[in-house]
Amino acid sequence: MEYGCVYTMKSKRLHETVVVYESERKPGCVYKFYLEKESTYRCCRCKELGKYRRITVKNDRVVGRKHPEDDHHPDCTPLPKDTVLALEVDRDMRHDVRENGKRPRDAYSEMLTNVAKRFRSSEQQVLNVTL
Ligand SMILES: [Zn+2]
Repeated sequence: MEYGCVYTMKSKRLHETVVVYESERKPGCVYKFYLEKESTYRCCRCKELGKYRRITVKNDRVVGRKHPEDDHHPDCTPLPKDTVLALEVDRDMRHDVRENGKRPRDAYSEMLTNVAKRFRSSEQQVLNVTL
């Protein structure tokens, strides 16, 4: 079985790869999964809550027998996409200001433009934030 697409977000600074899955059941919301090994990703929120929920991703699509939104911890709910994006922007912007001596306002507007651009190219459905 194949399910929806995921966006890949890579952060050099944090040495982590996170995929964002857009919820079908709650439009405008997303789940975040982080890379565990190879094509296996684990739900970030479930991990915090002490539940092991993983998905398999191939060619930027979730594959497997179980729907990616089934079987999460009862308290694991998808987050509004805007919030997730804003968090990423904020984190990376702070890094830019600190590491590259950019003015906060410049770093902020640059980052917003980059993120908006990448999310708009939905044919690829891939977001690569390489910082
Ligand atoms: Zn979960």
